[in-house]
Amino acid sequence: MTYQALKGQKAIVTGASSGIGAGVALALAAAGADVAVNYASSLSGAQRVVDEIKAMGRQAIAVKADVAQEDDVQALFDATLTAFGGLDILVNNAGLQQDAAFAEMTLAQWNKVMGTNLTGMFLCSRLAVKEFLRCGLKPGGSRASGKIICMSSVHEVIPWAGHVNYAASKGGVKLFMQSLAQELAPKKIRVNSIGPGAIQTPINKAAWDTQQALDALLKLIPYGRIGVPEDIGKAAVWLASDDSDYVNGQTIFVDGGMTLYPEFADGG
Ligand code: NDP
Repeated sequence: MTYQALKGQKAIVTGASSGIGAGVALALAAAGADVAVNYASSLSGAQRVVDEIKAMGRQAIAVKADVAQEDDVQALFDATLTAFGGLDILVNNAGLQQDAAFAEMTLAQWNKVMGTNLTGMFLCSRLAVKEFLRCGLKPGGSRASGKIICMSSVHEVIPWAGHVNYAASKGGVKLFMQSLAQELAPKKIRVNSIGPGAIQTPINKAAWDTQQALDALLKLIPYGRIGVPEDIGKAAVWLASDDSDYVNGQTIFVDGGMTLYPEFADGG
């Protein structure tokens, strides 16, 4: 049997009914974890992921919850702890865009993005941390009492005109993650982020679904291909596992080099 880095561990992945979250949930399960598959609206998407995980011989549940709503998040954690009896890994992945030119951006667009992308991480992480602190280190388990992975973006460092709310939320994720990592390291809780570049999912369909759009996008990616959710899933498994036990408070960019200022490749 192949080595399973997360054998017996329990995970919640928010926004796991689609795209990157689905890829991360499947990768964690393939590495041996049981997974709570959170979704906001797509039960069918979440159920597909649950079915695939169960086919691997792992436990999985689909749980509807809006990560921006405190009661929903409490219900998500209650359902997970009832089903699995514990928690080792939280992946704060749920996120969305509501794009607008800045002068036209509504307060509703600003609040929706902040609520999902940033407040959602606060609400989910707070309950995860309470559970990690309650259980402490588990004999024979992981070297950390808990692991939190935040799905950030290259836009935690690359400004993004026309997407000010989104870039501000991901910039917020950076110091949220680092401050949490600093506060919780003495409790043996590790907190890190993944900063995906362009990953082929529904969130950015307009950027890859015509040849013209894809050609323009590829100019921003030195490695010459768009990413896929599996690229992020592999990074998440590593960050959740003891293989990265000495990694804390870091953003791992998985972006084919998008953060390398490709426009300077020919001398600038
Ligand atoms: P998708 O649109 O494919 O998936 C978004 C997921 O988030 C869905 O499962 C959706 O659930 C869920 N979701 C949305 N709002 C909420 C909410 N309020 N509560 C709970 N779940 C919610 O997008 P991606 O997979 O591309 O994005 C996932 C994460 O990756 C986001 O944080 C995004 O910012 C980040 N990212 C993506 C990049 C990319 O290139 N794709 C690049 C950099 C970062 P449902 O469908 O059920 O409504």
